[in-house]
Amino acid sequence: MRLPLPEKAEAFLKRVGPLYLGGTFRKAATGEVFPVLNPATGEVLARVARGGKEDVDQAVALARKALEGSWGRTSPDERGRLLFRLSELIEAHADTLAALEALNVGKPYAEARTADIPLVAQHFRYFAGWATKWGGEVLPVSFPGEYLAYTRREPVGVVGAITPWNFPLLIASWKLAPALAVGCTVILKPSELTPLTALYLAELMEEAGFPKGTVSVIPGYGEEAGAALVAHPGVDKISFTGSVEVGKGILKQAAETLKRVTLELGGKSPVILLEDADPKRVLKGALFASFFNQGEVCAAGSRLFVPKSKLDYFLENLVTGAQAIQQGHPLDPRTQMGPLISREHMERVLGYVQRGLEEGATLLTGGEPNPGAGPGFFVKPTIFLAEDGQTIAREEIFGPVLSVLPYEDPEEVARRANATPYGLAAGIFGQDMRRAIRLAHALKAGTVWINGYLLLDAASPWGGYKESGIGREMGRYALEHYTEVKSVWLNLT
Ligand code: NAD
Repeated sequence: MRLPLPEKAEAFLKRVGPLYLGGTFRKAATGEVFPVLNPATGEVLARVARGGKEDVDQAVALARKALEGSWGRTSPDERGRLLFRLSELIEAHADTLAALEALNVGKPYAEARTADIPLVAQHFRYFAGWATKWGGEVLPVSFPGEYLAYTRREPVGVVGAITPWNFPLLIASWKLAPALAVGCTVILKPSELTPLTALYLAELMEEAGFPKGTVSVIPGYGEEAGAALVAHPGVDKISFTGSVEVGKGILKQAAETLKRVTLELGGKSPVILLEDADPKRVLKGALFASFFNQGEVCAAGSRLFVPKSKLDYFLENLVTGAQAIQQGHPLDPRTQMGPLISREHMERVLGYVQRGLEEGATLLTGGEPNPGAGPGFFVKPTIFLAEDGQTIAREEIFGPVLSVLPYEDPEEVARRANATPYGLAAGIFGQDMRRAIRLAHALKAGTVWINGYLLLDAASPWGGYKESGIGREMGRYALEHYTEVKSVWLNLT
């Protein structure tokens, strides 16, 4: 059983291909294309322009022109109006966007339709409101004389936005919405694995009426289009979401031109069950934290700390819960978990399973492909009873692999949870709020959820401690990273 593909999605798959160069859809300068796959079947969904250095050069020239011209002159009210209009268009096209995202990423349609796409619309709406509210301040200076001293918040300039494949449109909106709200221009380089919804968004931006050059979408490979953006002296800032390894490389390269850089990177997030946690709520929460979106979540709760006294209960019920997860085609309404993004990624995830076994972790369920779910890249939800030092409990796997880590001493659990180079997110389940909050304050993580997981809202800042990143997205904190502060002094004597 499969939901029919919305007509608009079908029509889009027939016409998609060109890149979006500041208002015009055209072929890559080299004329080359690359295939985009449906990971549930391994079939080609579309062939898309392979953007490279020349396309980036042209997009930068257009973006700089727009900054100095039509977009630069746009009032905050007009920018807000355009962003509101875009959010309305996203809602009007939500079924189509969700179907394209589900097909290209492999996530269940219902998740794309109820989580990804409504959040995308919310992001544009939220930052539309900020366009008219983000300004400077008058400063109480003491320098001898009489002065009017104030700050202005000016757009940082041309932003290169580089995004991953797990939440393609949502993460693009985390960058586009605040950047446009404050008056930047943006060149978006979506992941080569999932460029479809970014190109659909380009069409919606055209319809909304953004001036030419304000936004370009250049699909292509990281080492080509991505690296060209990072190296370009005409790009003022890189906003990157992806792996730690690539993020570190970008930071080094960006030093050449001293670009502003924000990085949203990987994680190995702990979920801590306290003794008094409500078992039913916890089970649901722990399964969701580790297996939502096939476990392909930067903040996946992939280390589950369970009190030894409750271990048997949780192991038994977690395994039953994992085995009940229905895997299948993303457009099948019964599907609760789709395929992994690619064959290469599936092999990487299975490599971690192998490593876990070699290092002595106990495999409780899963750990193998699931050909019964379809011809694509399906891996069964996997649970290990593991130890802190084992590779599966230390490294980001970015797939449906959960390490259960027993603990006895509640005073020790924060130290163990923090003993990782990552610091993106954490979860705590328990009823004694004083304990839960003390623990939340002790955890080195950008976000801590108590009695919930993966709660996201455009108003709540998002970002990592330690090697999980630099800077924050969402909330007013995101705006800081897209503006320069200018001090202006006027001598009144
Ligand atoms: P990735 O680092 O391989 O790729 C991310 C993007 O960078 C892609 O668009 C890719 O083409 C581009 N890229 C690759 N090499 C490049 C280079 N040399 N120069 C410029 N650009 C380059 O990551 P991925 O596999 O797409 O995504 C998975 C990773 O993303 C995981 O580590 C995950 O934790 C992280 N992630 C983090 C967040 C967050 O908010 N912190 C959110 C989602 C994903």
